[in-house]
Amino acid sequence: MRSYSLIAPAKINLYLEILGDRRDGYHELAMILQSIELADQVDLHELGTDTIRVHCNHPLVPLDQSNLAYRAAQLLTQEFPDVFDRFGGVDITINKQIPVAAGLAGGSANAAAVLVGLDLLWQLGLTQPELQELGAKLGSDVPFCLAGGTALATGRGEQLSPLPDLDSLYVVLAKYSSLMISTAWAYNTYRSNFGDSYIRDPEGLESRASRVHSGPMVHAIVEKDGAQIGQLLHNDLEKVALPSNPQLLQLRQAFADSGALGAMMSGSGPTVFALCESQAQAQEIQQQVRAAIDDPDLDFWVSKLSNRGIQLIEL
Ligand code: ATP
Repeated sequence: MRSYSLIAPAKINLYLEILGDRRDGYHELAMILQSIELADQVDLHELGTDTIRVHCNHPLVPLDQSNLAYRAAQLLTQEFPDVFDRFGGVDITINKQIPVAAGLAGGSANAAAVLVGLDLLWQLGLTQPELQELGAKLGSDVPFCLAGGTALATGRGEQLSPLPDLDSLYVVLAKYSSLMISTAWAYNTYRSNFGDSYIRDPEGLESRASRVHSGPMVHAIVEKDGAQIGQLLHNDLEKVALPSNPQLLQLRQAFADSGALGAMMSGSGPTVFALCESQAQAQEIQQQVRAAIDDPDLDFWVSKLSNRGIQLIEL
């Protein structure tokens, strides 16, 4: 039986601006997404029977059809109905290292890994644009997770423009293990509180997105100016997540006061990160914040920024 192992990196947001509403119910966004080396491993094994099975070492990850990795495999069986007949089913094992429901796109990364792995296992010969199109059907972050690196993401997050790599910087991530924020709650609360300021006309949305593309954050990334990137970190969803979670606000403040290049919440949270110029600085800030907020519920990770999306592990 053949098998493939893949590395599925997490992402952070360096920038997240909510521009307006879309007809499909999603928000129109302008984001800058960044892969980090913190990653899950996804192993795919051929099965003799026409079934899809998911295993995961994390108790909060569902193993049924609601798992995004399962849904990625299911989507391919729907798009290519003869694959079970030709190759049989697949056993998917997720070694979860990315914190769950954390704003780090762990589920989307797993789905992207399954698309890449099954393309090989089922000999589908899909191109990168075809994989991206299938990924967009599973979730807005899946196309980025496939490609990885640094990218401007517009639309609902699935339209990508690659940006120069930033892989010499580091982050310290921190998350209260018992604190989860639902992505739907964060966006719906934002709409209730700030919907009046949404851009309503299509030209206005387009021109705002292109102003982000030619704006200071993209310029700082092109210049690889870590200090400037740190100053320009921006996430609209902080406006709803931080006021309703005092402990998150305190963590964000501790990172901001730590001497890091900058600090911010990733995506819909609740992971908060500090951008650092070196691994040594990241480790020092981790110790400093751990000492300042002495809470056993608070977990930390140090990770390098990465220029890669889904990677096949050569066995
Ligand atoms: P989002 O992409 O919405 O920002 P997130 O990064 O905050 O997501 P995920 O770790 O992807 O969060 O998990 C969100 C929810 O999705 C979890 O609560 C979990 O129940 C469900 N889920 C489904 N499949 C997976 C998966 N493969 N890994 C992790 N969570 C999954």
